[in-house]
Amino acid sequence: MAIDVHVHTRGTESGSKILKAMDKVGLERLVLLSVPPHESGSARDSKRPHKAVLDRVARLVKADPERLIGFAWIEPTLPDAVEAVRYAFEEKGLRGVKMIPNHWYPADERAQACYAEINKYKKPMLFHTGILWGDSDTSQYCRPAYYEIMLHYPNIRFAMAHMSWPWTDECFAVCGKFRAAADYQVSKWRVYADITSGAPRIWKVDAMRKGLAYLGDTQFVYGSDCFDAEDPEALSRNLIMDREILEECGCSAETMERIFTKNAEKWLGIR
Ligand SMILES: [Zn+2]
Repeated sequence: MAIDVHVHTRGTESGSKILKAMDKVGLERLVLLSVPPHESGSARDSKRPHKAVLDRVARLVKADPERLIGFAWIEPTLPDAVEAVRYAFEEKGLRGVKMIPNHWYPADERAQACYAEINKYKKPMLFHTGILWGDSDTSQYCRPAYYEIMLHYPNIRFAMAHMSWPWTDECFAVCGKFRAAADYQVSKWRVYADITSGAPRIWKVDAMRKGLAYLGDTQFVYGSDCFDAEDPEALSRNLIMDREILEECGCSAETMERIFTKNAEKWLGIR
């Protein structure tokens, strides 16, 4: 069984179909990310652009709140961002926050206003890091070293998605820096590299070998970046590939269990 910490939603899925697909593939839990509020047509003119998308993901995870873990996609440049963090945790029972720095840097004041709020709730965060696809000049905002700002928010356990490819060395160095920093107030391992694909296989094998040699196996979590959680084939594709890659890297059964399950439980605060 595995936990997939990086699954996108469209807002139209059925919870029971997702659960069926998970059973077929052998997935114990999924982190389901709400639709980006700034890309949601219904929210565009609203004074609370986050509300509709958070409502939708909260409804979806009701099908099984143990196995379906709802994350709020917060866009800090929108006027209701801080209010949306509170709404997500207090009224909707969502369990973490996802952000993509897109034309703002991770130390942006508007983002920091959100981190301050998330820090109070001691919730996990998932950040997009690494190259950001699309037709705009976005990757410059997503370099892993910018996440050192999170040293100021010691209650937030955060994961850097795609292990920041192509800046995997920089990602692992940041993970190492957080380990070495003195103020571990909640958990020694409060920074994680999400191994969600992005890196072409030849780089991924190389990066995993280096990352595991440098950091050990306690800071990696598995994600698929799946965009169709109702489809077992879509959910299993990267799971199969990443198992193969980690086997190629010589990982033991214990290491596999940490990367596919136990580390995610710690990051999510399940145990
Ligand atoms: Zn993604």
